[in-house]
Parts: sequence; structure tokens; C-alpha cells
Amino acid sequence: MNTIETELINSRTINGEPFSEVLHKSLIAHRIITNPRVIKCGTYYSKERGHFRFRIQCNNQKECPVCRTRVADKRKRQLLKEQMDCLKENGFVYMVTGTLRHRKQDSLKLLQSKLRDSVKRLKNDRGWRKLRQRDMVFHKTVYETVYGEKNGYHPHVMFLFGTKDQNLNKTEIKETLNPYWRTYTGANLDVLKIDSIVTTYPYKDWDYNLRSIFKKMNDEMKERFEKPTLEIMLLCYDHLPDSSSLPLSKSTVIKVLKEMNQNQSYYLGR
Ligand SMILES: [Zn+2]
Repeated sequence: MNTIETELINSRTINGEPFSEVLHKSLIAHRIITNPRVIKCGTYYSKERGHFRFRIQCNNQKECPVCRTRVADKRKRQLLKEQMDCLKENGFVYMVTGTLRHRKQDSLKLLQSKLRDSVKRLKNDRGWRKLRQRDMVFHKTVYETVYGEKNGYHPHVMFLFGTKDQNLNKTEIKETLNPYWRTYTGANLDVLKIDSIVTTYPYKDWDYNLRSIFKKMNDEMKERFEKPTLEIMLLCYDHLPDSSSLPLSKSTVIKVLKEMNQNQSYYLGR
């Protein structure tokens, strides 16, 4: 890792500008953001108004890195609090991850719609309703997409929930939900108990990813990338003199980010 990369990784600013604003510019420059309101975000309503320098906020957390960053810390604290409260009262936190079977040539649009439908059906099923009755104190549903050159798009969903039911365990959760999920998707659910590590997993920010991409440049990280990591790569191409060691080409990064931006089925915090 060279020093410029280290600097980029360790700071939340690039050339003195907030990270999220630099990213906003790059995403616009490469026509990844095309929504006019998101493009205008951060500009001033009127230059003539002198010290009344109100800036436009698009509030589109799905597409806009500036607006997403503004609320991310608050969302993260909320999520941590829910988990900590649950654990403090002798509850348990679980994360269930659902994937799809897919082929390399499947479009992200097709996969996202299949995933959305499967989640909708799962949540209308008896299994999910039974689980909700097991003293569930909070739950969050978060969608994430990773891209790899070997297998294409891999969208998946994570259900994070807290329960105070002492008798519930990983096996029972899996047995309750998996038959439904397998019917819809052909894939199996993965159940993880998060009892000691309180997670902000769905709210990973770029800072975290920036570090992780270069630190964990191994195996899976070399092959599959989530959106924040791809955004970092784009910034590296735009701002680092030598980004030739990055695992995806610039044109691939741009193409994938465009497709991800057009086919997001979530925004963080839903
Ligand atoms: Zn915005």
C-alpha cells in the first residue's frame, strides 16, 4: 500500500473536501448519478443571498452519498442501542442472510426483483409470523449487492432481529424459515447468532470499507465487492495517480455502479 492510499484511507477528506462530497462529484462526473435533484444536492439556492447560504439537500439516501453520510451516524447509534438494550435484558440478536441462486449473465434487475418478491412472500408466510410472535423486540431488513467478475451480481438480504425468547435457537430459526425460502429461491438461509459482538453491519460506512478493501485484499475481497467498496475504487481511479493494482478496471467499476444505482431496492435504515 502506498502512502497516498494510506492517507485516503485514514482521512474523511480528500484534498480538504469531505469524502462524501468528493464521491458525489465523481458519481455525477461518470453519470452514475443521473437524478437531477440528487445532482443539485449541496448547491446553494442563491448566490446573491450573501450570508444566507442555504444549500439544497436532496434527502435521497438511496442515491446520494452526502445525504446518506449526514444520517449514517445517527442510524448506526440507533441500531447499536436496539441491540444493546436487547442483550442487556438477556435477549438475543440474530442475523439471517438470504441469498438467491443465480448465473453470471443474470441482470441485476431480474435478480433484485426475484429477491424482493421472495422477501415479501417470506414475510407473509406462517414461518415468519410464528417467529415474530417469539418475543421479537426489533427487526431490520437490509438488502446488499456484491459484484464479482467470476459470478456476476449477487444480491442478498439480511434480517437482523432481537428476541427475548430464551428457548429460540439457530436451528429452530432455520427450520422455521428455510423451507419457505428454499421453495422461492432454491437457496438456503444462513443463521448467525450475534450475542457478544454488537453489529452495525448493515450500516458499514466507506471509512470502514476503505480500510477493509486494502487490508483484507485477500480471497473473497479480491473477488466480490459491495457498493461502498466499488465507490472507493472509483475514487482511487479519480484521485490516486497510480491505481493499476485495483482488482477491477475503471470501466467495469463505472458500469457496475451504474447498474447498482439503477436497481437498488432499499435505502439504509428501512
Ligand atoms: Zn443529497
